[in-house]
Amino acid sequence: MIPYGHQSVSDDDVAAVVDVLGGEWLTQGPKVEEFEHKLAQKVGADHAVAFSSGTAALHAATSAGGLGPGDVVATSPLSFVASANCIRYVGAEPRFVDIDATTLNMDLAQVPERLDGLVAVHYAGLPIDLSQLHSRPRVIIEDACHALGAATPHGPVGACAQSDMCVFSFHPVKHITTCEGGAVTTNDVGLASSLRRFRNHGIVSTPARGGWSYDVTELGYNYRLSDVHAALGGSQLGELDRFVARRTLLAERYRDLLCGTAIELPPVAPPGFTHAWHIFPVRVDRRRELYDGLRYAGVGVQVHYVPIYQHSIYASTRSDGGFPKTEAAYESLLTLPLWPGMSDLDQDFVVDRLLRIL
Ligand SMILES: *Cc1c(COP(=O)(O)O)cnc(C)c1O
Repeated sequence: MIPYGHQSVSDDDVAAVVDVLGGEWLTQGPKVEEFEHKLAQKVGADHAVAFSSGTAALHAATSAGGLGPGDVVATSPLSFVASANCIRYVGAEPRFVDIDATTLNMDLAQVPERLDGLVAVHYAGLPIDLSQLHSRPRVIIEDACHALGAATPHGPVGACAQSDMCVFSFHPVKHITTCEGGAVTTNDVGLASSLRRFRNHGIVSTPARGGWSYDVTELGYNYRLSDVHAALGGSQLGELDRFVARRTLLAERYRDLLCGTAIELPPVAPPGFTHAWHIFPVRVDRRRELYDGLRYAGVGVQVHYVPIYQHSIYASTRSDGGFPKTEAAYESLLTLPLWPGMSDLDQDFVVDRLLRIL
């Protein structure tokens, strides 16, 4: 089966991991610090804080942002469930906002006036244009799990030019991997230290009371990334530009190969923006038939995503006719395989089987 996404792990990556395994530090240590430093530099942020997953990073961001009970936080219904779960983890209320039919990102013109926070998803790797916000909520968090390597007219995604914090995932299908892992970038030193406390049980050291002494000032978690995983991440980060370039080339190739067919292609980045092409979601008629047919033919297509309000635990957020554009998109979306190690031949096979079934 040709997968819809796949990691690209090199001999250098393996060597970097093996090196750490033979050393002194296995859990969070100097490799995490090095990885954070490299990531912050890469995206142009002052701070990067690594986590054990993208979901843990999202949880830390909503917590550090001070969101909690009584707060209303908007997000896109066309996303992975973690984009909304992170709002509920802190007791705040998620408010789904229908997508824009063209970009498939949350339609910022429809964001409610009184809003405490925003979890802005860059669907498929196309940055949402935050300058379209009519009023600024207290906390803006970018869920950039699709968008490492993308850019806006204000700089790279992750530089937090128009947000407080930006969250990345290093799951194997994402742009770089640490197996499991994630990070938050920010330019706010207070948020950075709050994120670091949250990741380590809420612990602050109190050396004045003795070298061993520490206090726990808030409820935190063990959301640390290990040095083994961070070594992989640091090595992978060196390949990011090449990975994104290959994804972009494959996306352009899909456009050429599928142009003039019944398949509706995903939107491209508007002037001043660049797309990170985490996924290549096309729109098709008879989606179910194409999904089953392609899977049977060895093409691991996927659907991104079942709208979050359709999940049972989000039943109370549904409203009649509430999200017509998300509904319409969900009916026809089909993600074609795309990852940096995919060959032109793999891609030709995908296109051939797709056109044959059509
Ligand atoms: C992958 C992803 C996450 C969660 O990342 P994990 O590292 O798997 O926890 C969150 N939001 C979006 C949009 C994602 O694609």
